[in-house]
Amino acid sequence: MQDMTDAFLELVRMTSTDLPPDVEDALKLARDRAQPGSAARGALDSILENVSLARQNSTPICQDTGTPLFYVHHPQGWSTRQLREQIRAAVAKATTLAFLRPNAVDTISGKNSGNNLGGEHYPSIHFSEHQMDGLVVDLMLKGGGCENVGAQYSLPHAGLGAGRDLKGVRAAALDTVFRAQGKGCAPGILGVAIGGDRGSSYAASKEALLRKLDDSNPDPTLDDLENTLVEEANQLNIGPMGFGGEATVLGVKIKGLHRLPASYFVSVSYMCWAYRRRRMIVDDGRTRYE
Ligand code: SF4
Repeated sequence: MQDMTDAFLELVRMTSTDLPPDVEDALKLARDRAQPGSAARGALDSILENVSLARQNSTPICQDTGTPLFYVHHPQGWSTRQLREQIRAAVAKATTLAFLRPNAVDTISGKNSGNNLGGEHYPSIHFSEHQMDGLVVDLMLKGGGCENVGAQYSLPHAGLGAGRDLKGVRAAALDTVFRAQGKGCAPGILGVAIGGDRGSSYAASKEALLRKLDDSNPDPTLDDLENTLVEEANQLNIGPMGFGGEATVLGVKIKGLHRLPASYFVSVSYMCWAYRRRRMIVDDGRTRYE
């Protein structure tokens, strides 16, 4: 197997410094719709200027470069041990080159490892085998502030008056947005998972965030719910960084999971405006990034 450490390093650099075009376009649209002279428009202008400077100078978009989450889809017969070693080497090198801030802190001792490597779960690497010949790797850098305002609900939920149906899911998702106001760096993007157990539900809510902002959910019911939630969240007048206005969320992406009859979880992963995700594709010896 070829050594792809440098290709992984480029994936990390791009993800940390170059916001994907669909996210930048959504931020520009939100800025153009914001009231001229408003604090919300000023915040979006600053965000967009920051995005452009980061790209130009190849410097991180935000001081918190986030938790690295890798999703690796590999062909049959590839060594996941070697892929893991190469990814970890790339993450350590990216930290030395300041594309990543040293973020991995041993929770028990309080010691920062200094290289973004810590135990078997940092960085987080998920492997799955696919039927294609090449390798596809998605990387998401998930900020701490927005991760802190994610939430999980076990329905029914008396406080929200939320039952075990899509109305209940709607109430839970909007409650997350409401509680996140002033934190989590809006405008945000919601990854929502319905069903599963507590663990699989949270994991799926993050996978939902790998979708592009301008795509549609193949399930028409969930697609409707995504659009409704964007519309309703944007009526809460929270706005960019909590300054008010309509740009509270840029998108909502939902995944449905099977569940045990006894449980009905709704998990919401909140992503900040620094929606850093990139894809690397290695096929026929060539590497490209999206
Ligand atoms: S929540 Fe996002 S934008 Fe805000 S500080 Fe964290 S990484 Fe940066």
